[in-house]
Formats: sequence, C-alpha cells, structure tokens
Amino acid sequence: MCLTIPGKVIEIKDQNALLKTSSGVRQINIGLISRVKVGDWLLASIDLAVKKIKAKDAEEILELLSGKKITDTNNVSFKFREILKNAQIGDLTKEEIIYLLKTEGQEKEVLFSEADAVCKENLKDFICLHAIVEFSNYCANNCFYCGLRSENKTVVRYRMSISEIVKVANEAVNKIGYKMIVLQSGADMQYTDEMLVEIIKKIKAKSRCFIFMSVGERSVQCYKKMKKAGANGVLFRFETSNPKLYNILHPKNTLKGGLQNRLALLREIKKMGYYISSGPIIGLPGQTLEDLADDILMMKKLSVGMASMGPFIPCDGTPLAGESHGDVELSLKTIAASRLLIPKARIPVTTALETLDPQNARKRGLQSGANSLMFNLTPAKYRSKYKIYPNKFHGRDKDLEDFALYKGKESWEMLTREFKKYI
Ligand code: SAM
Repeated sequence: MCLTIPGKVIEIKDQNALLKTSSGVRQINIGLISRVKVGDWLLASIDLAVKKIKAKDAEEILELLSGKKITDTNNVSFKFREILKNAQIGDLTKEEIIYLLKTEGQEKEVLFSEADAVCKENLKDFICLHAIVEFSNYCANNCFYCGLRSENKTVVRYRMSISEIVKVANEAVNKIGYKMIVLQSGADMQYTDEMLVEIIKKIKAKSRCFIFMSVGERSVQCYKKMKKAGANGVLFRFETSNPKLYNILHPKNTLKGGLQNRLALLREIKKMGYYISSGPIIGLPGQTLEDLADDILMMKKLSVGMASMGPFIPCDGTPLAGESHGDVELSLKTIAASRLLIPKARIPVTTALETLDPQNARKRGLQSGANSLMFNLTPAKYRSKYKIYPNKFHGRDKDLEDFALYKGKESWEMLTREFKKYI
C-alpha cells in the first residue's frame, strides 16, 4: 500500500488548499474534510486530502522521509559531477557505478542526497508498505548463506496450513489495511501447484490486494497457474550475477542449471505479465565491487519493478557462519546507485538492512533512494523459526501503518497504475 503523506495547509481557496509537503507545495482537494484552516496538518493521497492529523504525528513521518538536499558540492571531483550528469539521462557505465560504490565523505553524502532527490522526483512522496508472511521454512535447497538450507539440522521446521495462510493474509488486508502481500517460503514442494493456486484464490476471494509469490524455483507451469489464479508479482532474487560465485554458493539447487536457469525463469515469469522484484545479496563472501556493479546493471536489464537487495548476514549452521556481514554503508550506496540507474523502481529497505542497523537503517534507507518497507506479519509462533539469518528485525511501526492504511480508491488506483508500468 502506498503511504499518504502529511503536509501543512498554507493557503485555502474554496474546495482546494495549498499543502506544503516534504517534496514541495501542491494543490489538493479538501472537499472530504470539514473545517480545514491554515496551519492544519493533513494527510493527502495524490491530490486529495483524506484525514486531519496531529502536528506531532505528521512531524514524526516527515522526519523519517525528508533527507537533506546537499547543495555544497565543493569537495567533489570533476569525475563525480560527470557521473551524476550521466545518471540524469539514465546511463551509467560499470566503471561509473563502481566509482559510486567507492564514494566516501562528501561524495557519499551527495550520492545519497541525489538518490533521494531522484526518488522524490519520480515517485513523489509515496512509500509502499508490504506485508510478508513466511509460511514455511522447509527448503530443498542448500544455499551456502541461508539458515534454512536443507543440511541445517538445527532448524525447527514448520509449515502453515492453507487456512492459516489465508487467514493471516485476509486479516492483513481487511483488518489492518495492507494492499500488498508477499507470501514467502523455502523451496518446499509439499505445497503442490494446486495448493498454491488454492491459497491465492482464497485470499483474492475475500481481499482486494496484490499478491507477490516468493517461493523460489518452481516450474514455468506452476508460475502460469499462480498467475491465472490471481498472483500479481514475484519476488525472486538472482542473488549474484557472477556465475562463478553463484555456483560456489548454490551447490545443490532444485533446478540444477545454475544462474542461467534462474535468470531464464525470471525472464519467463516477466513475460507472463508478473511484476518482478529481484536483485542481489550485498557483501557475499567473494563478491567484488565489480560484481555488485554488474548486479545493478542486471536489475536494469531485467526491468525489475522492484529492486530488492539486502546485505549478507552470516547464519549459524551454514558454511558461511564465520564470515563477516555485508557493510551497511555499501548497502546504502548500492541502493542509491540503483535509484540513479532505475529511477522509477520501488526499492525496499530490506529486513536484513534493518537487522544490521535497527536504529537508523529505515530512515537512512528512505533518505538514500529507497521508498518501500517490508513489515513482517508471520504469526509470532513461527517467526523466530524463519531464521535465514540471526536476530532478524521485526519492527513493525504502528504509526507508519496508520498512515499507510488509507483504503480509499485513489490509493488503489495509484498502485494499479504503478504496477502497469512494469508489466
Ligand atoms: N525460496 C525462495 C527463493 O529461492 O527465492 C525465497 C525464500 S529465500 C529464504 C529469500 C531470500 O533470503 C533469498 O533470496 C536471499 O536473497 C535471502 N537470504 C537468505 N539467506 C540470507 C542471508 N544469510 N543474508 C541475507 N539474505 C539472505
């Protein structure tokens, strides 16, 4: 769902008001709200005021969203300025992306500020909240980085029943107000194609929402059936675009064709009309900045609707348990560089990033080019068992949910328009 953004009324003319928001002043219709006066704070969805709110609540949200525009560019190199110019026409070479990933000090801050500006310019003030339901932690795969890998015998495995999954999703939509539901699991073939279809149909029968499936390497037929049943998007990372690194990290995958197969499946899925969310893990052992630059170019080449990338976090019970985690700053730079190259994509602040920096990641991510959040709605009794890495962040924010739960048709129409751009 997309957030309605707070703004302060600075002028009123009949049914319209000028609203000052974090991205400037805009005219909105105030016909739905009674007794609006100058100085009031309103929540607006596109060009319609939907609710009066307290100044304190509004300021909290604005604080989260409003990055500082850095105008002092004295200490940045000529090369950096040229790269930013090239970014304006959506064209960056691999070398230029690597330069951005290496930025430090003033150049890094300018990169974040530019990415924030590009995000606001292309997607206005809106951010999207997704509800993720992790319905099974069984996995046939053995990815080196993932705590759910089949050889990790310390995991207490669980599967949610069809009725449990449907209930959680329907409550997320109809009680809390989510419009985007992500259903995620390990590679768990106990859920047959027919069961996945049944889950999608049952959710859609009771809830108006977009469903993203994140179930990994299933057959083309399965993806076709899920699409027909009403699934809208697929969250399916390519993990790394370096085939050698991919082979090292995925010794025994369900589809044994390596990276080429995963990418081929992603392309097939896109052709079926799904909205796709994909990207890399940042900071995998053995991954170079060249690899990461290729990953960003790969997301562009795939025309992802959502660029989903998060830092690597080592997990006990995996071969990479003793490795270092991905770097927070590098993750933010990867988000920012991706925003410059793919200006209109949704980019989430991933749970992995929030796990590494629970205090600041959300705010810093949203001010460095990200515009979406994933809130975990997996039932509490299962949550700690879906341990792809340790100490997973579960901070849902009631205030943000309240802001984001605008259920009006404008919000739905806006989302539908956004989706169509990528299908
Ligand atoms: N089975 C599905 C698939 O293959 O796409 C989805 C589930 S999988 C657990 C979801 C994602 O978690 C993976 O695509 C991977 O990027 C991420 N992940 C797994 N282990 C991780 C780790 N240790 N650190 C960061 N991300 C990790």
